[in-house]
Amino acid sequence: MKVGILGGGLAGVSAAYFLQEKGLDVEVLEKEDECGGLCRSFLKNGFSYDLGGHIIFSKDVEILDIMLKMLGDNIQKLYRNNKIWFKNRFVKYPFENGLSTLDKEDIYDCLYGFIENKHPKPNNFKEWIYHTFGGGLAEKYLIPYNEKIWNTKAEKMGIEWVERIPKPPIEDVIKSALGIDTEGYTHQLYFHYPLKGGIQALISAFESKLKKVRKGFNVSKIKKNGNQWIVSDGKTEITYDRIISSMPIFDLAEALEEIPSNVKSAINKLKYNSLTVVLLGIDKKKNNDKFAVYFPQKEIVFHRICFHSYMGQWYSPEGKYSIVAEITTNPNDGVHELSDEKISSKVVDGLYREGLIDKKDVCETDVKRMKYGYVVHDLDFKNNTSLFRDYFNSIGIPLNGRFAEYEYHNMDQVVGKAHKIKV
Ligand SMILES: Cc1cc2nc3c(=O)[nH]c(=O)nc-3n(C[C@H](O)[C@H](O)[C@H](O)COP(=O)(O)OP(=O)(O)OC[C@H]3O[C@@H](n4cnc5c(N)ncnc54)[C@H](O)[C@@H]3O)c2cc1C
Repeated sequence: MKVGILGGGLAGVSAAYFLQEKGLDVEVLEKEDECGGLCRSFLKNGFSYDLGGHIIFSKDVEILDIMLKMLGDNIQKLYRNNKIWFKNRFVKYPFENGLSTLDKEDIYDCLYGFIENKHPKPNNFKEWIYHTFGGGLAEKYLIPYNEKIWNTKAEKMGIEWVERIPKPPIEDVIKSALGIDTEGYTHQLYFHYPLKGGIQALISAFESKLKKVRKGFNVSKIKKNGNQWIVSDGKTEITYDRIISSMPIFDLAEALEEIPSNVKSAINKLKYNSLTVVLLGIDKKKNNDKFAVYFPQKEIVFHRICFHSYMGQWYSPEGKYSIVAEITTNPNDGVHELSDEKISSKVVDGLYREGLIDKKDVCETDVKRMKYGYVVHDLDFKNNTSLFRDYFNSIGIPLNGRFAEYEYHNMDQVVGKAHKIKV
């Protein structure tokens, strides 16, 4: 049985690994010159960075174990010391666990809103935030932050995905308001990360076990021939008994020779956000006390920054550190079309205005853009995704991956699904 895996991101290389382990003849077809997709890492003059902060964690111990074993000795365990930048101070992450750091009026609003919460059963994400957290937490942090990362009004988003946002117990919110230490999102309180090589080390580890990986192969045509599939990049045709797609659903639909018009139209209605990542190298020594900082402020272009030097000395040159800013964009939003230089300046200006860097210390910049960064759960998400998933299921093409299956999956979820794929 010859199996073709379309796309060499984490979903693709992990699926290939598990199927190869079962004795199948598997080949990965990746469009870029390197595998990894969203899990690529880059090195610029000694500063290593990922496409936005990527940490390894999972509630699924079996899958976590597989990922960690794959990395062998190249692994470390770190404490999540993340913060939210709010009214000129760092507040513990998640926000509801850091209330005592706020001004008294803000603490009162958050606590009262959480306890006296009469918001009705929700129909959209905005209502869900009010219903789950109350008005104070909703208005001060959760709505402004989420509207930045999703680049979408919260009332235009659905709620099928919200179980991944843990609801804090009332005891924790009261303790947090009183200044008694509590932790939220405990499944990622400690996380793992490669000692060297960035998150792409995980991709390289899977890839090193694979017998066949064809890079620079842009799948542009797929057609059925009897019981087999012919896949082509416009130059070379390869025949497989089975194919699995981990490439974005938009590209798959474009490549497939025949696809019903209602399926194509459902796919074209799916919403996503692109991602721009800006690296700043800073010529200054830094206390490695935080990894990620979240910014709910509308006037600041990025929603999150990560300090890669938190991951150890391999990640920045001696005596220097880096800041990696994440920005979600869509065409015509006023940011998407900005040149690399302009978007880097916006990041530098934002950090400078908040008093977090000195402009003269910026010694390096770099910008990377990913067309597909975030799957957006809009109000039609369920209808549109069910329609195309049923169709691909009916023609025997399993979908695995964030933009293949169209789910807001983390790394453990795509590896978990890859582990279960049957051909
Ligand atoms: C900013 C950010 C932070 C994140 N942080 C975390 C985190 O901390 N922890 C965590 O677990 N997860 C995190 N994630 C999620 C994680 O990145 C994804 O779950 C994972 O990378 C998805 O892998 P994938 O293979 O499904 O998709 P992708 O990485 O998008 O891979 C798809 C692959 O298909 C290839 N391709 C596309 N078109 C074609 C074509 N026509 N022919 C051939 N190949 C093609 C692409 O080049 C790419 O390599 C984060 C994601 C983002 C955006």
